[in-house]
Amino acid sequence: MIDIKKVRADFPILNSTVNGKPLVYLDNAATSQKPQVVIDAIVNYYTTINSNIHRGVHTLSQKATEAYEQARIKLQQHFNAKKSFEIILTAGTTHSINIVATGFTSFLKKNDEIIVSAMEHHSNIVPWQMLCKRTGAILKVIPMNNEGELLMNEYDKLLSHKTKLVFVNHVSNALGTINPIQEIIDKAHNVGAAVLIDGAQSCPHIKPDVQKLDADFYVASAHKLCGPTGVGILYGKEEWLNKLPPYQGGGEMIKQVTFEKTTYADLPHKFEAGTPNIAGVIAFGTAIDYMNKIGFDNIAAYENELLAYATKKLLAIDGLKIYGTSKNKTSVISFNIENIHPYDIGTIIDKLGIAVRTGHHCAQPVMDFYKIPGTVRASFSFYNTFEEVDLLYNALVKAKNMLC
Ligand code: PLP
Repeated sequence: MIDIKKVRADFPILNSTVNGKPLVYLDNAATSQKPQVVIDAIVNYYTTINSNIHRGVHTLSQKATEAYEQARIKLQQHFNAKKSFEIILTAGTTHSINIVATGFTSFLKKNDEIIVSAMEHHSNIVPWQMLCKRTGAILKVIPMNNEGELLMNEYDKLLSHKTKLVFVNHVSNALGTINPIQEIIDKAHNVGAAVLIDGAQSCPHIKPDVQKLDADFYVASAHKLCGPTGVGILYGKEEWLNKLPPYQGGGEMIKQVTFEKTTYADLPHKFEAGTPNIAGVIAFGTAIDYMNKIGFDNIAAYENELLAYATKKLLAIDGLKIYGTSKNKTSVISFNIENIHPYDIGTIIDKLGIAVRTGHHCAQPVMDFYKIPGTVRASFSFYNTFEEVDLLYNALVKAKNMLC
């Protein structure tokens, strides 16, 4: 199980104070904190092997290339991709989705249909709307119920031979719901549609097996997984990545360039134009190692306990309503307190050292569904404690007393 004292000692920021109070960091769904080993990996890269990768014959360049490619292999193993070149290193989930959405322009025609869920992050809505605009394809939406669960019978009705692509998040960032992605993938494949899974919110809690899932694409960001910002992955099945055109042109992604014609490099380089975030990718590998050492089963078990404790505690506050009450959810509590704006709560409890997210969480359709401007979102990680839940509770009671 989790040795919480030892784990917390790995994260220097958790020892800090905010507004004169010990930091209680409950904004993990926005970004996770970073353990010292990840910070060290970045510092070590710049202090010992900083150089550009892939094209150098000199020793530093070779060392940097090796470290970069080793990180790719760690990620391949973590996500259980068949081939290491099926892991494209990107700037994050948003970048990964845009690579696929742009690439699909040449595969869609007018009146083809693509399906999204009602509980997506804007990153998994806007690029597809842009795709529809370019191609004349039609965007269909799987609705959800009050508990924040997808209506799977409605999904069945949306699927047809016109469906070319389905893209849903594995876990909703606004509600924490874990979606039934295996069923979503299997049913999409039955009508010949491809599936992209947005794993930005699942990956900090669940170790996905992309081969077992049979996902065509799976995307994630390092910064939610104890890694640095500006780095992520696009997993794609080899046959899809070969079919997709490159997203950006530039150095590194070519085989041969003349003014008459350019031929593209093989995978994964076809999608990795320009100098990447080398230190970030290497540190992403370190973060994956770190989390695997703690163990995703241990992480999920501990976070579930925190979630159950926090849910019970917060519901004891009169007028507090939780949005997203599925039994199948990660350690996210999205809530409001009657007659109080979420920003007011967030601002007051920040003065007490407590960091939560307030607003629409880049999921405005979810807020529209509940007819609210936003929520307060407390999201827990494996380094949070039960005492921190108590501090959140006390701070909310204080805020409520001040504002009501
Ligand atoms: N998808 C989901 C479900 C998210 O929660 C986020 C970020 O919060 C994103 C996509 C976008 O991730 P990034 O900003 O790292 O590209």
